[in-house]
Amino acid sequence: PLAGRVAAVTGSTSGIGLAIANALAEAGADVALNGFGDPAPALAAVGAAGGGATRVAFHAADLSKGPDADAWVKAVEADFGRLDILVNNAGIQHVAPIEEFPPEKWDAILAINLSSNFHTIRAAVPGMKARAWGRIIAISSAHGLVASPYKSAYVAAKHGVNGLTKTVALELAETPITCNAICPGFVLTPLVEGQIADQAKANNMPQDQVIRDIILASQPSKRFVTPESIGAMAVFLSTDAGANITGTMLSVDGGWTAR
Ligand code: NAD
Repeated sequence: PLAGRVAAVTGSTSGIGLAIANALAEAGADVALNGFGDPAPALAAVGAAGGGATRVAFHAADLSKGPDADAWVKAVEADFGRLDILVNNAGIQHVAPIEEFPPEKWDAILAINLSSNFHTIRAAVPGMKARAWGRIIAISSAHGLVASPYKSAYVAAKHGVNGLTKTVALELAETPITCNAICPGFVLTPLVEGQIADQAKANNMPQDQVIRDIILASQPSKRFVTPESIGAMAVFLSTDAGANITGTMLSVDGGWTAR
């Protein structure tokens, strides 16, 4: 359903972003990748997901720097000739009580988890308007809707992402461009694996107990959300069926925010 579309996914060398890139390629889109680390495995995986029928390329950028985020969008447009589907996924986490929270971690989390979305959207909208089609998707979090202790920067940034998403949706409501946020609960990715290992050490607990009693305590399904299900949601929003879904926070959280 996405043949002829060009998608760009931030932070797609790992985890949820990689799964989204795979799903978009499988649906026929050409995909621009980004993120830290060696891009070769992601390029190979997304190329295979597209069955060789779609183009995949990698454009390095540290999106926590505003001018670099702006330049990244322009580089993707120059390379592929267009940008139709922008997925703002790159993100980091840091867990600490507010009075011990390092100010540089606050700045870093706000820069990549929130401000990068502003810079990439700002750069991508003129082209989407000119071509009269666009999809803007934020990978927010259940923490964009509710809070947990010790995650002040992350929760503030994700609430900010949801506010930005609603504002952009309203500004573009009369255009064929939609803007939505997907709000996952816990997904087992390198980001969460790090938290499990830290908690196991801090609480002197085996990892399976940490998963059950700490990590999934807030997720009523007691099952991790799969990265593939987030990819499928991004594809759905990008199809014609998503044309009138805008300004919405789509929870994929095993019941977390129903409490
Ligand atoms: P991950 O650590 O596996 O992947 C993060 C990606 O972002 C990597 O590709 C990394 O290289 C990239 N990245 C980090 N900083 C960057 C920067 N400055 N510039 C460019 N790329 C950068 O994490 P993940 O779990 O896949 O998380 C992806 C997104 O999903 C994040 O926004 C996260 O907040 C959100 N999320 C994750 C979960 C979860 O449980 N894993 C739940 C809800 C929301």
